Order: sequence, then structure tokens, then C-alpha cells
Amino acid sequence: MLQQLGIKEVNPAYSTGLNWGGQNNKHVREIYSPADGNLIASVHMATAEDYDNVIATAEQAFKVWRKVPAPKRGEIVRQIGNKLRENKEALGKLVSYEMGKILQEGLGEVQEMIDICDFAVGLSRQLQGSTLHSERPSHRMYDQYHPLGVVGVISAFNFPVAVWSWNAMLAAVCGDVTVWKPSEKTPLTAIACQHIIREVLAANELPEGIFSVIIGDAEIGSKMAHDTRVPLVSATGSTRMGKKVGEAVGARLGKSLLELGGNNAIIMTEHADIEMALRAVVFGAVGTCGQRCTSTRRLIIHDSIYNEVRDRLLKIYPNLPIGNPLNAGTLVGPLIDKHAVDMFLNALESVQKEGGKLLVGGDILSGEGYETGTYVTPAIVEAENHYHMVQEETFAPILYLIKYSGSVENAIEIQNGVKQGLSSSIFSTNMLETEAFVSHWGSDCGIANVNIGTSGAEIGGAFGGEKDTGGGRESGSDAWRIYMRRQTNTINFSRELPLAQGIEFKI
Ligand code: NAD
Repeated sequence: MLQQLGIKEVNPAYSTGLNWGGQNNKHVREIYSPADGNLIASVHMATAEDYDNVIATAEQAFKVWRKVPAPKRGEIVRQIGNKLRENKEALGKLVSYEMGKILQEGLGEVQEMIDICDFAVGLSRQLQGSTLHSERPSHRMYDQYHPLGVVGVISAFNFPVAVWSWNAMLAAVCGDVTVWKPSEKTPLTAIACQHIIREVLAANELPEGIFSVIIGDAEIGSKMAHDTRVPLVSATGSTRMGKKVGEAVGARLGKSLLELGGNNAIIMTEHADIEMALRAVVFGAVGTCGQRCTSTRRLIIHDSIYNEVRDRLLKIYPNLPIGNPLNAGTLVGPLIDKHAVDMFLNALESVQKEGGKLLVGGDILSGEGYETGTYVTPAIVEAENHYHMVQEETFAPILYLIKYSGSVENAIEIQNGVKQGLSSSIFSTNMLETEAFVSHWGSDCGIANVNIGTSGAEIGGAFGGEKDTGGGRESGSDAWRIYMRRQTNTINFSRELPLAQGIEFKI
């Protein structure tokens, strides 16, 4: 798996020889799999000097890339998509092994990369502006979109490769170059992607700086946020990180695209198809071990069906197959590390102090196959929406059950009553309820689904959320526009020079 992706297992230090530097680095980070605790590889952490070199290389590459016609840029992205197809199995396994999500989800993540490549190829012929009517005779106006330059991509550990591809492939067809700072928890999948990209660029005699990767921690991310050579910073991660990045980029009047934490809810009304809803709830709450930005954290249930839903969940949870994410049949893998386990335990302790009732789960598994201490049993807690812990995003498999009574408006109020605004969904077969949910006075989230859970978005739609989720949109629809600068052009094809608004100015 690692060899196919160009990664050698090297201990104690591993250098890709890529343009992020490496030779002069002092700091080495060891990467252990959360699945079995084994050391996978060690990576050099980039220095400030490496960072400057990477940005300088990217700036040079931009001068070449922006002159390549957009459909030809699309052709390069098409080739990247094909290389990803060839490497889907190996890269999917590495995602699973390094991050801990189950293999099906690892493969799904790579499929998402392939899908966004296809989307970007089509987009490369559709970066359209508008033609506009001028108020002046023999004048014509239009607006067009030009590339921005170096786009910085800061990504989170839980979608170690897909989120980068959403940004990088769109940015590439838009004529930008990207510098990617992956999560320091999952650098190997990023290095593997760089190997794939590198082959395609070399085969087309293009500079590698069109796509660069820099392995570093928050310090390198922060440099990017402050760097005026990076006109757009796309940052995915916690709200805490997003506030810092947004502030730094804003202070220099740069652009930021922020994809931050969620606190996603499913509403089950008295008209819900309970069978279908339960499947969505369980996938949303325990999939990726509760480590998706769109994971279902709150289940808002009508009081008429509350007991039935709770009891059925309590039958499902104890039987969830928890184990090595690479094993067929596993549905719940490990948390990313022991720190995440501590956060899970602290949240459960805290919510119980506030009055929450732990119904199931909340244990650390031990014994054969669970030696890493990163496997936990997903928890269900009866709670109230205003509890401090319910208001926060805990990046772990905790599902809060919240009861509501009366009309769907009461449920929507609870659903909207948090700081975050990423994903939301309603299960109901009543059209009056579902339409209310997606209306302008309904869900306040960037994603509002009907009879589908909160997680598992398709790449065709714009992805992102409101409020503390940061307001950014990436992936499909017209999300590409943020990677470009808009220019309005007025063309005079007469021999007169009339001024706008009829202003007379005779010399
Ligand atoms: P994190 O905030 O700890 O780290 C994310 C990235 O930001 C990492 O690359 C990290 O090195 C970098 N970083 C941290 N502090 C920084 C700073 N001050 N300046 C610049 N960069 C900095 O998040 P995580 O634990 O890796 O990921 C989990 C979080 O990400 C959750 O909150 C989850 O909801 C969120 N997330 C959101 C989306 C989305 O699309 N909305 C997608 C995936 C994950």
C-alpha cells in the first residue's frame, strides 16, 4: 500500500524530496496508526525557511499556470482523476490506516476526489461571467474571472485528502496554484497525493509548484494566514482555529474560506418514517466514529415517538461492530488519538453533571485488538439543548436525545438554537413540515436535508455552513468563484468619449 503510493517506511526520518524542503529540518514527527498503534512513518516538519521556499516556488509556477488555457488546465485535472482511479484502493487504505475511518469510508473519500476532478474538468469550460448593457452608445460591458494566485489550503485530520481536492482541483482549473498544509496528524496521505500529482505534472512537463504540500503544524498554518503572498486561505478545522485564521487574513484584507465545526441535528417529527430515520441517525452519529464535521450530534424527537426511537437505538448501539477499520464488517473504527478519547470522556462526565442521562456507551475498549486505547463505545445521552456540552461540538460519537412537543416550529427552534450552522435534517413524510424546515424561517444551516441524514454530502452542491461554521462554501455549484478575482470591463467602440451619468467635462 505505502510502496504503491511512493511512500517508503523510513525510521526515524522520512523525506519526500518534494518541494516542501526537508533537508534542513530539525523537527521530526512520528505518525502512528490509531487502528493498531504501529509507527507508519516519520516526517520532517517544515521550518519557516522551507515555508518561504515553497511559497516562492508556487509563485513562479503561477506565472506558467495562469497562461495555460482553462480547458487545458482541465485536461491536467482529468489526468489527476485517472491517476486517483488507478490508486483508489491503495490511497483509500492509507486514509483508513492513518486516520482510522473504516475502509468503505476511506474508499469513499478517494471517490469524492475522483468526483471533484470530473466536476472540475467540466467546470474548466464554464468559468463564465456576464455580458452587460452599457448606458453609453457603442459601448459594451462584461465581467470576467481571473486567477487569484497562490491559494493556501489548511485541512483537518478527519477528511485528510477529500477537502484538499475540493479546493485544489477547482483552484487549478481557475488558474491558481495551491500550497497545502495538511493536518499534522495525517501528513502521509497528503504526501501520497503529492506523489500522484507529481507524476502527472512531470508527464506534462509542468512545474511541480502548481500543487505543493508543506508538512507543518499550526505555526506554519498561521504563517500562511498572515502572508500577503497568499491571496486566499481556505481553512478547514475547528471554530477556534477558524477565528484565528479569519482574523489574520482579514487584518491584511485577504480572502478566507472557512469550513469550521458543526453541531448538527436531525429532527424526527411524529410523521417520520422511523425505520429509515434510524439508519440515517446511526450512520450520522457513529460513522467515522463521530469525527465528521457533519456527524449527527443532536436528535430532536417528537414526544409521541420519543420512547420508541430511544428504545430502538438502545437495541442497535450495543451490537455495533467496533474494531480495526480495515476489517470487513467493522462499522466503528477508533478515535484519532488518546487526546480525542479524553475529550470524549470529559464531555460525557460534564454533561452528566449538568443533568444529562447516559443511556449507553461511553467506555474505552481494552483487550485483544483494542490495545491502542483509542476504541470507544458510542454513547447516547438524554439531554437538553441548553446544556453547555450540548451547545459545543465534541468530536466523538456522542448522540444527544432531545424531546420536543407541539409543532415542527418548536423543533426548528431547538435545531437552530446553537452557535454552529453546518448541517441539519428532518425526517417527516408531511410536506407542510418538510417545506417549513427548508423555508427561509426554517433551518439556519448551510445544509438542510429532507429524509436524508446530516452527513454524506455529494460534491455537486456547495458545501459549508453559517454562524460559527464560518460561512465558506466549497466544492460544487458556483463555489469556484471564490478562487478567482472578478474584473469588470467596459469597451468603447466609438470615436466619442461620453462619460457615465452624462457628466460634461470639456477641455
Ligand atoms: P484543528 O482546528 O485542530 O486543525 C485543523 C487544521 O488547522 C490543521 O491543519 C492545523 O494544523 C491547523 N491549525 C490549527 N491552529 C491553527 C492556527 N492558529 N493557524 C493556522 N492553522 C491552524 O481541527 P482538527 O481537529 O484537525 O479537525 C476537526 C475539526 O474540523 C472539527 O471542528 C470539524 O468540525 C472541523 N471540520 C470542518 C469541516 C467543514 O467542512 N466545515 C470539515 C472537516 C472538519
